[in-house]
Amino acid sequence: MAKKVVTDLDLNDKKVLVRVDFNVPMKDGKITNDNRIVAALPTIQYILEQNGKAILFSHLGKVKTEEDKADKSLRPVAERLSELLGKEVKFVPVTRGPELEGAINEMKDGDVILFENTRFEDIDGKKESKNDPELGKYWASLGDVFVNDAFGTAHRAHASNVGIASNLESAAGFLMEKEIKFIGGVVDNPERPLVAILGGAKVSDKIGVIENLIEKADKLLIGGGMAYTFFKAQGKEVGISLLEKDKIDLAKSLLEKAGDKLVLPIDNVVSHEFSNDAPFHTVDSNHIPADEEGLDIGPATVELFTKELQGAKTVVWNGPMGVFEMSNFAKGTIGVCEAIANLDGATTIIGGGDSAAAAMDLGYADKFTHISTGGGASLEYLEGKKLPGVESISDK
Ligand code: ADP
Ligand code: MG
Repeated sequence: MAKKVVTDLDLNDKKVLVRVDFNVPMKDGKITNDNRIVAALPTIQYILEQNGKAILFSHLGKVKTEEDKADKSLRPVAERLSELLGKEVKFVPVTRGPELEGAINEMKDGDVILFENTRFEDIDGKKESKNDPELGKYWASLGDVFVNDAFGTAHRAHASNVGIASNLESAAGFLMEKEIKFIGGVVDNPERPLVAILGGAKVSDKIGVIENLIEKADKLLIGGGMAYTFFKAQGKEVGISLLEKDKIDLAKSLLEKAGDKLVLPIDNVVSHEFSNDAPFHTVDSNHIPADEEGLDIGPATVELFTKELQGAKTVVWNGPMGVFEMSNFAKGTIGVCEAIANLDGATTIIGGGDSAAAAMDLGYADKFTHISTGGGASLEYLEGKKLPGVESISDK
């Protein structure tokens, strides 16, 4: 069933609880990348335009002991957010109690407050991360409505997402809405043909995704380190390539199940060493030398995958085609990224931290319909799992 979105709510004069993802990288108390704060702006600005009072909160890192609190405060985020919004963001350095309640009572329409890291509640019995029912109920009591814009934690049932949503009318923020529409769309109702491209290091990281997409996709193109376990399953020599021996049988059954849907590399860039300084050359997939390892898909495979992509209406890409961190083994990933970026009339989606980083580094960020912000959450979504953070949002 369709979920409520922030535009379905009446926000005028309302205390709006907003779960954002401000889990930003920090070093020595300074934010090193504010992408996540910038990404939350549209939802916050919309709430303010509608005359709501925005009560923001997020987790930041993991908090297990009192000592962990020192460098896990959201205070620097409040300062950065204030600069970005061009207005005061009041920081409340607690997660409950009279100070927080007082600050909320004093809010006027259009005000913004950010309260402290929700995981400060984890020190005493993991109340946030174990979705303590009292905590979710308490936070819900602080507002009139709840907006969940934290897709990155949607695969977890925590007090600050599921707990609040089970006590209050709730809706997806704009970021969450986009993730549901695109990543959810791939698994629920893709425009066909749907072509999935999977890569990355290991089969074991992606078993759930492969199994689900074998069912859902019209074509499944596999590159990266995981291809070698499939080659082994076909009886090929893989040299010293990445191989998961305990996954060979699984790869065999996946190959049988997939039939011609599954397309493997036809050539590979190989080297004696896992190094950008070692000599490398291209071999076809039936002739991987016993003393070399495959570190990228070859040019003929880029051409083949490019051909397979033509005519696709939906493309989802997860995982690099090779060890793209080393320039000698980045060409496959670049080639596939270009091929997807240049498609006409297709909805193109990246779900996966490293593939997203690769596309952004290459300057293709704007060429994709959607680049998912949630690593773990987008993987679980692609596995076909229901995400508790999404499920708990009120139905339309
Ligand atoms: P994503 O974050 O996009 O889901 P993964 O984390 O699954 O991707 O995989 C990324 C990693 O896979 C990269 O660090 C890359 O170097 C590695 N990788 C890709 N191909 C190979 C290969 N042939 N051999 C070893 N590692 C590989
Ligand atoms: Mg990764």
